[in-house]
Amino acid sequence: MPPFPTSVSLDVLEAEAPRFTISDAERVASEEFRVEVADASPLDSERDQNFRLRTADDRELVLKIANQAEDPAIVDFQNRALEHVAERDPELPIPRVIPTHSGESGCKVDGPDGQKHLVRLLTFLPGKPLGDLAPENRPLRSLGATVARLGLALRGFFHPAAGHRLLWDLKHAASLREHVVHIERAGQRELADHYLRNFEKRALPLLPGLRAQVIHNDVSPNNALVDPSGGSITGVVDFGDLVHAPLVNDVAVSLFEVILDAPDPVATAAEFLDGYCAVEPLRREERDLLFDLGAARLAVMVAISAWRVKSHPENRSYIEGGKDEVLALLERLDELEPELRGVLLGARAPRSASVESDTSLLERRTRLLGPALSHFYDRPLHAVRGSGAWLIDSEGRAHLDAYNNVPQVGHCHPTVVEAIARQAATLNTNTRYLSRLILDYAERLTATLPGDLSVCMFVCSGSEANDLAWRLAKLHTGNEGALVVAHSYFGTTDAVNDLSVSELPAGQEPAPHVRTVPAPDDYRGPHRRGEPNLGERYAAYADDAIASLAADGLAPAAFFADYSLSSSGILIPPPGYLPGIYARVRAAGGLCVADEVQSGFGRTGEHLWGFEAQDVVPDIVTFGKPIGNGHPMAALVTTPAIANSLAARGSWFSTLGGNPVSCAAGMAVLDVIERERLQENAQRMGTRLRSGLESLAERHALIGDVRGAGLFVGVDLVRDRETREPATRETHAAVEHMREGGVLVATDGPHGNVIKIRPPLVFGEAEVDRLVDALDRALAEIA
Ligand code: PMP
Repeated sequence: MPPFPTSVSLDVLEAEAPRFTISDAERVASEEFRVEVADASPLDSERDQNFRLRTADDRELVLKIANQAEDPAIVDFQNRALEHVAERDPELPIPRVIPTHSGESGCKVDGPDGQKHLVRLLTFLPGKPLGDLAPENRPLRSLGATVARLGLALRGFFHPAAGHRLLWDLKHAASLREHVVHIERAGQRELADHYLRNFEKRALPLLPGLRAQVIHNDVSPNNALVDPSGGSITGVVDFGDLVHAPLVNDVAVSLFEVILDAPDPVATAAEFLDGYCAVEPLRREERDLLFDLGAARLAVMVAISAWRVKSHPENRSYIEGGKDEVLALLERLDELEPELRGVLLGARAPRSASVESDTSLLERRTRLLGPALSHFYDRPLHAVRGSGAWLIDSEGRAHLDAYNNVPQVGHCHPTVVEAIARQAATLNTNTRYLSRLILDYAERLTATLPGDLSVCMFVCSGSEANDLAWRLAKLHTGNEGALVVAHSYFGTTDAVNDLSVSELPAGQEPAPHVRTVPAPDDYRGPHRRGEPNLGERYAAYADDAIASLAADGLAPAAFFADYSLSSSGILIPPPGYLPGIYARVRAAGGLCVADEVQSGFGRTGEHLWGFEAQDVVPDIVTFGKPIGNGHPMAALVTTPAIANSLAARGSWFSTLGGNPVSCAAGMAVLDVIERERLQENAQRMGTRLRSGLESLAERHALIGDVRGAGLFVGVDLVRDRETREPATRETHAAVEHMREGGVLVATDGPHGNVIKIRPPLVFGEAEVDRLVDALDRALAEIA
């Protein structure tokens, strides 16, 4: 397979190739390099001229004569890089530079065309191109390891020409979209355009933040040599695409080159990447981009070749070499994406048959963890790895996670992982000891809260935080009653279970000390969108609840509300709602507890904390789930006066709550939210998501309502838009359909007819579009 012309920049492509004869080459070798040639033969090249030489003393060399348009600084850059690598990793099989008789790494000679040409001499490496071996016989792991070693050896190398503009530098992929028009077939044109747009939207903005260095940028099966038995890599050649770029570009280029003709691209990618990562682990943010970078590389290859053939039809066979394979992979990419992405994000190669089946795991799970623990999806998900907004299952398929709000800053975010690991390796004690870290975290968390909310108490779960809030409220007020919104959920302890009215068996009344107020549901409740003073109308129900408690000789100790009213169907309260209820509860002697377990840490977009949207100052705020991005950590913040009510009763302590490792995790979460502007992202992506869902509603009668704030969104499915009859069965079917298609969401609400969308806040535009598309397909299927 002749290679694509990947090693030349634009000027060089447009200039004539040098026209040295064999005897010219022999003369240059002798005069400039003092090398006596026994035998010389030309090698393939589009715009340069290369000769293979065997010397009188039986060495094999390559004389490289550059195109006259080649910038001498670029040739010097490549020579210096070769010298640097040879010094850093002498075992790496790369060409060595043979100096001229005056000790230079190259020289200029007059060519038969009357032009001056840069000439250099390199050692010839033994072996045959890896691409000549059948794909199944290629040592892919070794190749991956070699690419990684070469990257390591190049680290620290720099040259004034390293930042030169190169056609094949993926940084410029988006600018090559103009050449897509030259692709003959419309379908292929659209595909190339699609992947280049994806690249522009998702990868390009992140590239400047990645670790960058000089990279080889083209270790393809044609530029890697193997020994005749195919066992090991004997050479990496063609440093013509060398450039300063993100390290991950190097991986993407090689990886997508090796899978081009592989019968099993996913397994091939896994093996190559395994080899690479054994030498140089990739970072999460690099893995996240591998797919988009690789897809862009394929698109660039087809676009450039289509464009080049138009201007140089005489070179068609050279330019179009390998084109069919590139197009074939491009056309299969959508179908391959879930599994390929899984591997790129770090899943192992598909499991072998000997691994325990999911059926067996499910059976053991019920037996060992108890039958009360339900699971998601008819076919439960067996995730083995997470990265960003993706979960990878045991078969290596990637699933877009649009449900889990615990990994708020993305699954396995490296900053959080590192913070946990570092602190776990340093010290883990508890809050009875002095620790600056714990206090710094408490200070940082409380600084985000209004009013007098300045005392932080640490526990390990949202349930415990609410349990403690309930206890504080009773102690502080001396009252025993509770007010909650209908169908709320607050956790699992015995006391909090009484407040979790969503868990009541059908028809069962709440505990005698608990009263519910109707959820402020402006779609299905007693007061609907468009009515004036909705917030106040719903808040007024608190009067009835307080009166009902009083009728039993009780007064409210607290009103608990989860701002996003998640289990009530994801209802963002209308303006005035919380102020109205808070005023009534306080007038009756109760405290107001804001449960930020779901709505906190930037999820609702506009504010860090959900309750802030209603301009209220709670007496107690509880935090859980995302606070440690999955590390079991939770907290409660209250006022000194309320905290003193507990102290007056004696001491309080949670052994594991707020330990230094937890606080390190919590600190890292806040760092990432700030640094990656995730709250702002939740706002922007939430807007895009809701507008995407609203446009689906124009085509799918099942969608009755789209609501939410930031990246907390509910889609209410109905059988009839007039009666608003909940489409419970259809909602379940839609969620299952999406799960099978690789997009994870769930249902919620009193009727189970609300699709709950609550992804990690690292969700980007492409993820939003993918999610909307998956729902579109699911609804079309159900209809
Ligand atoms: N409050 C709310 C609003 C919740 O959604 C949950 C959990 N779903 C909890 C509290 C309890 O948190 P945990 O499961 O960590 O105990």
